[in-house]
Amino acid sequence: MLVRASLGTLAVIGEEDVKTLIRPGVAYLLQYSEQGCLAGCLFCAQSSSSRASKDLLSRVIWPTVELEKVVPRMARVFERACVQSIIKPRFVEELHEIVRTLSSHGLRVSLSTTPVPVEDLELFKQEGVDYLGVGLDAFTPELAARVNKPYPFEAYLDFARRAVAVFGRGRVVVHLIVGLGEGLRDAVETIKRVYEVGCRVSLFAFTPVRGTPMGGQPRPSLRYYRIVQVASFLVSRGLPVERFLDLDEACVRVDSLEGLEDLPKALLTSGCPGCNRPYYTESPREEPYNYPSDALLPTARDVLLRLSCGAN
Ligand code: SF4
Repeated sequence: MLVRASLGTLAVIGEEDVKTLIRPGVAYLLQYSEQGCLAGCLFCAQSSSSRASKDLLSRVIWPTVELEKVVPRMARVFERACVQSIIKPRFVEELHEIVRTLSSHGLRVSLSTTPVPVEDLELFKQEGVDYLGVGLDAFTPELAARVNKPYPFEAYLDFARRAVAVFGRGRVVVHLIVGLGEGLRDAVETIKRVYEVGCRVSLFAFTPVRGTPMGGQPRPSLRYYRIVQVASFLVSRGLPVERFLDLDEACVRVDSLEGLEDLPKALLTSGCPGCNRPYYTESPREEPYNYPSDALLPTARDVLLRLSCGAN
């Protein structure tokens, strides 16, 4: 069966001869279709509205491979595989086959999908999926419609809620893209809603891809992205966002680290266990939106100084 795998994943198993500065924490797979995804999300290279190469998702290249050929080597070097679905005829049936193949080689499986029936979720769990990803992407219903998501905003949240009933609290990860056009208050409110229904948040920075309808739009500023990361970190720990953040000025309002000692962890890639997505949204030469390793993190004091109200 043909699938796509990220270039970094294929480098780790020796299938592609490229150097990886940071090793991917999990094996990243993407469902394959020559035409890409039938949905028309305006920011996505896989989308039917995109003229970008279907080898791309975000800024990463995903060569096509035979799953059965690469999976034994993946299972030797990775503990977990992350499977990203697309919409195409019979994509759910194919996802079941992919999950069964990965599980039969001992890999744990994270599956990211658009809404599917709850019976399929139950079956995915039996087949070995232990974390489910939900691509909500936009922070508001209006924005979801504007970027042409295939389902309404609330349909994704309902799906996430149903998935929590199957996989358990903390095992459903809702993906949100920072910089599609939301305001900071919208971002914080949606992050709170996601945690209220028992899910976790995984943040991505909007990455304009040439050939997509949104290819000419700017990326979010690092400072704005950091504030959303801090907000998400606070919500995940049950801390009051408004006590630590000024949402009008987009800055951290405290000058002491009391209660925020592990603040740098807010900057780490968020997602399933082991997920680090190196260079998914920026080149290795840039400061990353999501740090792929805690060895690279700035100190808590540095983070605080840069984000404090009054600092540029
Ligand atoms: S549903 Fe997912 S893969 Fe399909 S176009 Fe939208 S973002 Fe891309």
